[in-house]
Amino acid sequence: MTGSTPLPPFDLLIIGGGINGAGIARDASGRGLSVALVEANDLGGATSSASTKLIHGGLRYLEFYAFGLVRKALAEREVLLDIAPQISWPQAFVLPQSPGDRPEWMLRAGLFLYDNLARRHIVPGSAKIDLRNDRAGRALDARFRTAFRYWDGWVDDARLVIANCQDAAARGALIAPRTRVVRAEHDGSLWQVALSDGRTLQAQRIINAAGPWASEVARTVLGRNDAPALRLVQGSHIVTRRVHLGSDAFMLQQPDGRIIFIIPYERDFSLIGTTERDISAPEAAAITPDEVQYLLDAANRYLARPLTHDDVVHSFAGVRPLILEEGKGDRETPRDYRLVEHDGVPAMTVVGGKITTYRVLAEDVLKRIAPKSKPWTAKAALPGGTVEKLRGETGQDAFKRWLTNLIAAHGDYDPRIIKRLAHTIGTAVEPLLEAGLGASIGGLFEAELQHYRDHEWAASSADVLWRRTKMGLHIGSAGKAAVAEWFGEDAGPVEPELPLTHRFATPGA
Ligand SMILES: Cc1cc2nc3c(=O)[nH]c(=O)nc-3n(C[C@H](O)[C@H](O)[C@H](O)COP(=O)(O)OP(=O)(O)OC[C@H]3O[C@@H](n4cnc5c(N)ncnc54)[C@H](O)[C@@H]3O)c2cc1C
Repeated sequence: MTGSTPLPPFDLLIIGGGINGAGIARDASGRGLSVALVEANDLGGATSSASTKLIHGGLRYLEFYAFGLVRKALAEREVLLDIAPQISWPQAFVLPQSPGDRPEWMLRAGLFLYDNLARRHIVPGSAKIDLRNDRAGRALDARFRTAFRYWDGWVDDARLVIANCQDAAARGALIAPRTRVVRAEHDGSLWQVALSDGRTLQAQRIINAAGPWASEVARTVLGRNDAPALRLVQGSHIVTRRVHLGSDAFMLQQPDGRIIFIIPYERDFSLIGTTERDISAPEAAAITPDEVQYLLDAANRYLARPLTHDDVVHSFAGVRPLILEEGKGDRETPRDYRLVEHDGVPAMTVVGGKITTYRVLAEDVLKRIAPKSKPWTAKAALPGGTVEKLRGETGQDAFKRWLTNLIAAHGDYDPRIIKRLAHTIGTAVEPLLEAGLGASIGGLFEAELQHYRDHEWAASSADVLWRRTKMGLHIGSAGKAAVAEWFGEDAGPVEPELPLTHRFATPGA
């Protein structure tokens, strides 16, 4: 895109390159619409890299009778595990029981519904387990004797955004990260969209997918006052030394009625979240010492070997935009989305949602704006996950088979390196292995860095260390400085090892 040659008007301009914007861009491009996606910072740099990373129906939403939402999300769980096998997998959860928590009959009934609300091919069903004989029990205090094991999915949220953007771009979409939409005016036939770099794009229609900024963008960028007011609730996570012995995650009931998750994370770590804390603006999102303490206490109620502050190696905070319903607290407010068509102009604001339901959200948007076109994304693997299936195989099976063969074909590489890269960039690793990975730059390979820069819009060490990969957790300050230098950054003073908090740049910045 050059400043001197004006581009023809786009059918669709999307504000926001989180999972919802990226999913809409992919779906629309595949239906033949010309699309521009404009993101103020890094793609997936806000909420869509700060989630718990579960592809889940939301077991706890059953308590609030949100059966429709849970069924939709459970069905989608199978779809996402199938189309993105390189960055997602089924995840077992252990839900310990103790007196005073939800009674056993209630958990049994909830899990029965959870197992049966939608068809399952990939994800197993639930079962009661004896923690005294089960490996999961060894991580927990001996007073927990029984539990249920049930299944959901896990996905690398930030990479899911990139995969959607890659496919959108391959189908002709313009992807413009690090560019803010400043103002959009409808001149009676087209939107004139002013960007932070001084350019103006034209579009027939705008989709505002600005996540927690959606209402503000509707008001200040589109000049519309008919988007719902949002309640912004911060949710924080801590990353700690690994507390798991096996591959189970834990779903832990808390005395305040909430639940927290402990999830195996990046092989050597555990991810613990989340909290709920009202904030006034998305830019204000940052974990507080109280939240760190809350999460440690919540985990330590159950763990055999309690965690201390010294075990916390990293943390992050994201913001849920909740449309509060009359008489409901934020725990009861279902995490479904709403599509708001603005009066008198071809523009829509997307509010709420989940990583899990981004693809159906995109289909719903397209159903409204291009009703004659056909849905296509449910069966189309995302870039990196396009492994041909043998008869009867799921996407997960096919990917595992492909990876085993890849490791066997490249005996000159440590299988752990191949696995790490395959579970990051998927099938794109093949040409890199053929051509050679090149020198190690702070623990990453030169060919890998070039791939993130040239094919995944990475422009800084933070993009690579925290979103394209999570190598920021694994490498020390010297490695981070080497990656920063590769990007031509003035790395500044070497940061302390394993920083407690990383924050994202905000759209206004
Ligand atoms: C703590 C927490 C845990 C969660 N856990 C889960 C989970 O386990 N599973 C699940 O399914 N869902 C989960 N979710 C929900 C999920 O993360 C969100 O629904 C999803 O990420 C929202 O994506 P989005 O695209 O709407 O917003 P975002 O990812 O926030 O994207 C919006 C983008 O708009 C950009 N933007 C804003 N203003 C402008 C502008 N003027 N111009 C250009 N760009 C602009 C921002 O920079 C931002 O990148 C969780 C959410 C939170 C907060």
